[in-house]
Amino acid sequence: MTQIQALQTWHNGHHFRARVEARWAVFFEHMGVSFDYEPEAYSDGQTAYLPDFLISLRLSAPDNRFEPKVFFEVKGAQPTPEELAKARMLAKLTNKHVLIAFGSFSSGFKSIPTPVMFSVKPDGAVDGLFHWSHCQGCDAFTFQRVTAFSDGCRCGYPHASSALAAAYNAARGARFGVHE
Ligand SMILES: [Zn+2]
Repeated sequence: MTQIQALQTWHNGHHFRARVEARWAVFFEHMGVSFDYEPEAYSDGQTAYLPDFLISLRLSAPDNRFEPKVFFEVKGAQPTPEELAKARMLAKLTNKHVLIAFGSFSSGFKSIPTPVMFSVKPDGAVDGLFHWSHCQGCDAFTFQRVTAFSDGCRCGYPHASSALAAAYNAARGARFGVHE
């Protein structure tokens, strides 16, 4: 068994390159959020990039007939300038947001569950910090600025739900088989 193989993780028919990616899969499954893992590689002609996840958001009413897709990248630490440049390339090529999560599931950030995320907008602008949000009133699942987290959903419910907390806990505590 090599060190690299030990990091690879089977979960629910997927072969994840890193355990923290499998934890995110558990999180999205708990939230009923559809995702593709390593959906497709992109290139601007110089740099090739294979994003980790493509996620379907759920918006609050009256926009909830749309399920916009965002890319979701998983990093162990705060993204480097090179990693941000690749995310900018992907966002511009696809006209989609790229969210970059970093940090471990075991550490907390004040009252906000971790990991937290940067957002790279389709125009290439980097913004942060963000956090996943879920509304128990309208079932919206999207990303919210950490500093605006207490503002609440436009339907009147908070951005944080018990289902969201349970999904973070499930992801944090998941046990996986190791593929050798
Ligand atoms: Zn709502």
